[in-house]
Amino acid sequence: MSPRIAVIGSGPAGLTLARVLHRHGHPVTVLERDSARDARPAGGTLDLHEGLGQLALEKAGLLAEFQALARPEGQAMRILDVDGAVLRDWQPRPGDLANPEIDRGQLRDLLLGNLDVRWGRVVTEVVPESGDGVLVHFADGRQETFDLVIGADGAWSRVRPAVSSVTPRYTGVTLVETSLDDVDTRHPDLARLVGDGSVAVYGVNRAIVAQRNSGGHVKVYAQFRGEPDRHTNPDRHGGLNRHGGLNRHGGQGPADTDSDADNDAEAVRSRLLALFDGWAAPVLDLVRHGTTFVHRPLYALPVSHTWAHVPGVTLLGDAAHLMPPLGAGANLAMLEGAELAESIAAAPGPGDLDEAVRAFEEQMWARAGRWAEITTAGLERLVSPDPSAALALFDEVQPS
Ligand SMILES: Cc1cc2nc3c(=O)[nH]c(=O)nc-3n(C[C@H](O)[C@H](O)[C@H](O)COP(=O)(O)OP(=O)(O)OC[C@H]3O[C@@H](n4cnc5c(N)ncnc54)[C@H](O)[C@@H]3O)c2cc1C
Repeated sequence: MSPRIAVIGSGPAGLTLARVLHRHGHPVTVLERDSARDARPAGGTLDLHEGLGQLALEKAGLLAEFQALARPEGQAMRILDVDGAVLRDWQPRPGDLANPEIDRGQLRDLLLGNLDVRWGRVVTEVVPESGDGVLVHFADGRQETFDLVIGADGAWSRVRPAVSSVTPRYTGVTLVETSLDDVDTRHPDLARLVGDGSVAVYGVNRAIVAQRNSGGHVKVYAQFRGEPDRHTNPDRHGGLNRHGGLNRHGGQGPADTDSDADNDAEAVRSRLLALFDGWAAPVLDLVRHGTTFVHRPLYALPVSHTWAHVPGVTLLGDAAHLMPPLGAGANLAMLEGAELAESIAAAPGPGDLDEAVRAFEEQMWARAGRWAEITTAGLERLVSPDPSAALALFDEVQPS
């Protein structure tokens, strides 16, 4: 009989795992908190790296479909100073497929395919070694038992406590995300400023990054340093006031479940404009013309987070190694999903499953630890007291 395998979460990690398991003929149960595939906005664009996210798609048999959807031109990157002067303007070479962009919604649909996801299943707790397997508790009071439970449930994982007592810590940086729609028609100047890819502006402890998505949609991320509670208190920080209108359903913060009722885009906009006062008008227009605002305090797990192996339970992606969002998290999550699926599929029998998971964990920890170091150091330089540190970082990583 096939082992009973459950993956909690239908993000990039969980879906890639499920797709690759299916490709190898292994049944898997995907349990997802959201009530439906489009229950909430999918989010911005992702660049998938050749040796990471793209390798995972190859293992899932989806690389050609990805290439048909991806935007290689989205690799373009322009850096401005706060006065609006262009400091760097990188364009991808023809045929460069190293890191093409794809909308998260497109990637989700590609990975979902015909997978059978059980929507609206909110996991509250996972108890290893209960009776004849691992017990999964749901918010509606139901429970179910599996031989292997894979926590791919993101930053605030409910599976993680079954293997580790560690919780994410605030990085010192908050993003406020906003969007521009139909930018080529409605805001042609901003469309030119953003170009085909991204534009980034780095100031003292502040940054604004705008990224083109498909269909004339642009995501704008205003970033700044400060204690998380101060962002909600304008008297102490001069920053953002929750009661002045932040929509706090951002992906990384523990406030994911806060109500959106206090959203007031005008109040957030004016506070952001005050925070970035003095920056060039076209750069501020990216915020001025933004529609809704989402507050995303950035949290991370400690670099090199590991745990003593627990039979029957493991973690993938952000649940295992939440790190600053510098272009690696989804890529790692997908590759880990693909690799764990291949390890499970290659296990000669049910008795070998645990050894396959244990070996996978060692491999994941080593790679994710390296990326956590890179992204943690990167965030320090990108939102820093010295804006030239950000430029130097790009000069190191961009092809000359
Ligand atoms: C602003 C921003 C930009 C980013 N840009 C990039 C980028 O360009 N490239 C890149 O590689 N990475 C990027 N990242 C990081 C990337 O988004 C994450 O690393 C990635 O989404 C992690 O995938 P995951 O599947 O592990 O978790 P998630 O994407 O968080 O998915 C977790 C899933 O689990 C579900 N879930 C949660 N709790 C439960 C529960 N209790 N029960 C059942 N289901 C549950 C959630 O609803 C969700 O569907 C960015 C992140 C942010 C915040």
